[in-house]
Amino acid sequence: MSRPVPNPGILDIAPYTPGKSPVPVPGQKVFKLSANETPFGPSPRAKEAYAAAAAHLEDYPEGTSRILREAIGRAYGLDPNRIICGAGSDEILNLLAHTYLAPGDEAISTTHGFLVYPIATMANGATNVVAPETDFTADVDAILARVTPRTKLIWLANPNNPTGTYLPFDEVKRLRAGLPPHVLLVLDAAYSDFVSRNDYEIGIELVATTENTVMTHTFSKIHGLAALRIGWMFGPASIVDAVNRIRGPFNVSTPAMRAAVAAIEDTAFIQMSREHNEKWRNWMTEEATKLGLTVTPSVANFVLIHFPTTKGKTAAEADAFLTKRGLVLRALNNYGLPHALRMTIGTEEANLLVRDGLRDFMAQP
Ligand SMILES: *Cc1c(COP(=O)(O)O)cnc(C)c1O
Repeated sequence: MSRPVPNPGILDIAPYTPGKSPVPVPGQKVFKLSANETPFGPSPRAKEAYAAAAAHLEDYPEGTSRILREAIGRAYGLDPNRIICGAGSDEILNLLAHTYLAPGDEAISTTHGFLVYPIATMANGATNVVAPETDFTADVDAILARVTPRTKLIWLANPNNPTGTYLPFDEVKRLRAGLPPHVLLVLDAAYSDFVSRNDYEIGIELVATTENTVMTHTFSKIHGLAALRIGWMFGPASIVDAVNRIRGPFNVSTPAMRAAVAAIEDTAFIQMSREHNEKWRNWMTEEATKLGLTVTPSVANFVLIHFPTTKGKTAAEADAFLTKRGLVLRALNNYGLPHALRMTIGTEEANLLVRDGLRDFMAQP
């Protein structure tokens, strides 16, 4: 062998393609609506806390993210000892895969599930098993039908990215009840703050009452702290103990921790973001529908817009048309959705421009 050989599975992974970062055109205002980032930035209090932390960059962080676990505990009514913080929920998802998956194991995700899941699965030599969806929504029976003696873990984003759909809590409980007890169920609640449905729950009850379910969350979406990389999980004591053994001892930086504490405590700011999102997500769905496009009903901070396959009206052509106007949406070829674009709900100005852009695109000869 003439060079180092990666572990089994690594070279089967298709590299993750992040949302396009806009290419600046001189004089044109650009709106990045491709990565589900908030249009508001973080709470001003989070920025102050971050800046104040600059006074002590020589010190290592407190290694357990104690102040942040306590703030999350207060916000959600959770025992801080059952929380782990990470450098984005991406780190948490990878730690879970590393703790529980090995070559020969299988992990199940859904057709249009978040792409980090198959990467985390395959990075540990395990096999990614795909369960089909119904109407772009996770299908509990399809997942259960793919469970084998090798199944170790189920990945479920609820709501899901990039579809924006969700499973009612009854369905999540039915999934848990149908799984063998040794199978870990990972509920990824990255977009839970945007959901306003009576039949939705983030999953705390399941985590608290079982030994085999965890819930992950992030500060990257409604809290607007994606650049700082902060996520967390709530889990049973045995899982928290196991994951903590492989977690890097200083995996969350002090400025990130302090900003996140301030962000989660600014409930007025969170409420404002939620209301803005709800209003404009509904508006965008209606407007795109009026233009003859199909929009998958979303409960998150983005919408999945489906385009015709006729030449001149395709998603790829719409993407190019909008990009020329400085409106950067997310193409989803690598998610198996070549005929759709995902649009993150933006400022009022951005949303109106996208509507106008779509109208002009659809009206072209
Ligand atoms: C954005 C997103 C996350 C958050 O990832 P971070 O690493 O915390 O930024 C997690 N899961 C899903 C499904 C997401 O879309």
